[in-house]
Amino acid sequence: MRYNWNPWHGCHKKSAGCLHCYVFAIDGVYEKDASQVHLVKTKFEMPIKRNRQHQWVIPSGSSIATCFTSDFFVEEADVWRPKAWEMMAIRNDCLFFIITKRPERIANTLPDNWNDGYDNVFINVTAENQAMADERIPILLNLPLKMRGIAVAPILEAVDLRSYLKTGNIQAVSVGGESYRNARITRYEEVLDIRQQCMDYQVNFTFHQTGSKLLKDGKLYHIPHHCEYEQARKADIDFLQPKVWHHIAERDLWSDDDATNIPKK
Ligand code: SF4
Repeated sequence: MRYNWNPWHGCHKKSAGCLHCYVFAIDGVYEKDASQVHLVKTKFEMPIKRNRQHQWVIPSGSSIATCFTSDFFVEEADVWRPKAWEMMAIRNDCLFFIITKRPERIANTLPDNWNDGYDNVFINVTAENQAMADERIPILLNLPLKMRGIAVAPILEAVDLRSYLKTGNIQAVSVGGESYRNARITRYEEVLDIRQQCMDYQVNFTFHQTGSKLLKDGKLYHIPHHCEYEQARKADIDFLQPKVWHHIAERDLWSDDDATNIPKK
């Protein structure tokens, strides 16, 4: 089973990939200011909720996409994060999947009992272009983590990951395009190039989302948001090794449910 857990909401734009951030887009439609980071009180304790039979509401073995309407390491969340880590430690029977643009903040915000990493926390950095790949991935590689991944999303240009993949310490790479009307173009050949890099170094690869504008074989395709995941799946270009993190291959883990129903302006 797969769940979304958004313990806090709101963020600050950090790099080129944030330009059309769906958190800002959706909040903007409702005239809310997404830069006001706040705790989502009704959802905060979601991982440790139990039902009347005293069973976990989120069943054992679930994947939990964590903090997809914020950045888990955003500054304002420093006061809430210790409790979030605590909940992850309690729910060591579930996988917590995090994507961040702030890996430089991780080392100083880990819990005391982190040691060489919780087994059930999978941290990914966004590498939407080469500059961000070269800035964030070395930081990721130097952190005490059990699982590391790279999200090339939204892919803005060709990205060379070879020097990072060859370390053997990146478990997965996923590539996706940008959504909605102002989306920047996803160039399919750049997606395929990253796939080839992953194949060369035997790293899991997923094409999770086409983006709204896909350029393939010289033709520009306009893809409705609700079809982006399905179209990526139809491309059938994922590369997965047996026995390695099958749970992270669930494409739905990447889907931004909160953005699916964005009203058209
Ligand atoms: S870091 Fe993520 S959530 Fe924050 S503004 Fe950028 S894209 Fe949006």
